[in-house]
Amino acid sequence: MAKILEESYKKVKDTIKEGLNGIPTLFDKPLISLQHKYILRKRFKLPIGHRLSKHEGLCKNVHGHNIVCEIALVAYDLNDNDMVIDFKKVKEIMNPLLNSLDHCCLLNENDFDDIKHLAKNNRKYITFNGDPTAEVLTEYIYNYISDKLPENIYTHSIRIWENDNSDIELIIGDNI
Ligand SMILES: [Zn+2]
Repeated sequence: MAKILEESYKKVKDTIKEGLNGIPTLFDKPLISLQHKYILRKRFKLPIGHRLSKHEGLCKNVHGHNIVCEIALVAYDLNDNDMVIDFKKVKEIMNPLLNSLDHCCLLNENDFDDIKHLAKNNRKYITFNGDPTAEVLTEYIYNYISDKLPENIYTHSIRIWENDNSDIELIIGDNI
């Protein structure tokens, strides 16, 4: 892809230069850095419940959020369809996880009383090694998605909005 861009840039530059009798133009500077990457972002909305057992305020109570989860994926080159990846494919990859989280109660694995109650009443819940904060949920989503992506596509970041004004973003390794 870098080579194609380089050739295409040279062609545009030559055409412009010819037209302007060699007068320097803005095209003398690359329009796009040849070292580049594409970032695809896709958002999902879903309701979840949780309880933060270590929190001293209201969050220690079971409560819910309509969270927005954003997956950002990186590619340094495009696939055979000239895409990072089809948005639809990202949804397909995410669907099993989203279905499991939808209307689910997220709890600390040490939250025995609440777990016992939900299990006994056949309610939907997932336990975490720690409180199920938005931060912990970003790690959970990253662990899910990281080994399901096609070759040459990497997770750039996972971001979760608990509401319009509060969000957490987990940025992955080399992309920081
Ligand atoms: Zn909360």
